[in-house]
Amino acid sequence: MIFFAIGGERLNMKILADTHTHSLASGHAYSTIQENVRAAAEKGLKLIALTEHAPAMQNTTSHAYFANLHVIPDELFGVRVLKGVELNILDFEGSVDMDERILSGLDLSIASLHIPCIAPGSMEENTNACIRAMENPYVDILGHPGDPRYPLDYDEIFKAAKRTGTLLEINNASLVPGGFRSGSDENIEKLLHMAIAENVPIVVGSDAHFYTGIGDIYYVERLLEKIGFPEELVLNTDLEKLLYAIKRNKRQKK
Ligand SMILES: [Zn+2]
Ligand SMILES: [Zn+2]
Repeated sequence: MIFFAIGGERLNMKILADTHTHSLASGHAYSTIQENVRAAAEKGLKLIALTEHAPAMQNTTSHAYFANLHVIPDELFGVRVLKGVELNILDFEGSVDMDERILSGLDLSIASLHIPCIAPGSMEENTNACIRAMENPYVDILGHPGDPRYPLDYDEIFKAAKRTGTLLEINNASLVPGGFRSGSDENIEKLLHMAIAENVPIVVGSDAHFYTGIGDIYYVERLLEKIGFPEELVLNTDLEKLLYAIKRNKRQKK
């Protein structure tokens, strides 16, 4: 159980997994993998996904880094470690910056729109970029879809997520007041209401760039509470459900 006590409020959703984290390797994050995993253990998490920025992001790491992630144990300090990546969506056709040969060796991938890698287009173009990325069998999660700098047709995004089995991420960093994706709240609320109406689970991620942020979903939790989002639809509260819901794991079971 993790408790967040800020401004006198005390919130308590049982988050067991953080599916979106960055280490020094990402170039603009400041902790080692060891520090991040230890922080996860200290906060009572049972799983952490290492999701460095893929090579098209400036100053991040290389393809070889991702190809060699298997040298890291699958469990450290009692925490299951998923070796993943945060891919960059590169164009409105949904191309991503890693080939299937490396992607297929990873445990998890998030695909996201980032300003240094793709300039925002029209709503139709941005939506198409995300939908085509979600059609990629190795894209498991659509990262921070609330970003108001990339207008999206949320009905279409939600439909595509269901059709392709891609999970939609509610990203804590996007909800930090005054943050660089501020204004995400309204868009995320739209997606959350659709998820409630159709009983579709979502994932939450801290998007931590320093070890103190690992497992911190304070702003996500506040939003979930505000709209009465059911805890059982948050996959991070149940490791078995989470691992089963990851697209590539389902495929391997077939
Ligand atoms: Zn991102
Ligand atoms: Zn990130």
